Amino acid sequence: MYEWRPYVQPAFTRRDVAETSCCEEFVLCHMGATYFALRATGPGRFEETGRGEYAHAFSVWIDLSARHDHKPKASARPNHQEGAVS
Ligand SMILES: [Zn+2]
Repeated sequence: MYEWRPYVQPAFTRRDVAETSCCEEFVLCHMGATYFALRATGPGRFEETGRGEYAHAFSVWIDLSARHDHKPKASARPNHQEGAVS
């Protein structure tokens, strides 16, 4: 399993999204060349894991995404369909 730690957005640092899982439960983010997987734990609250270079963070994120408990978010993604390829 992965060690999750609270994510705190550093001031004046841009966080970009590289990939999201199908229902956005896990998001692969990066700040410059540092990548990590992010998940929401509540309104405005996040945890991160797998911080490091792209190959490491991507392998963590793809593993989490492949095994996640799918929860469709119809309101957030009106065109999202189960099993749809995009
Ligand atoms: Zn999903």
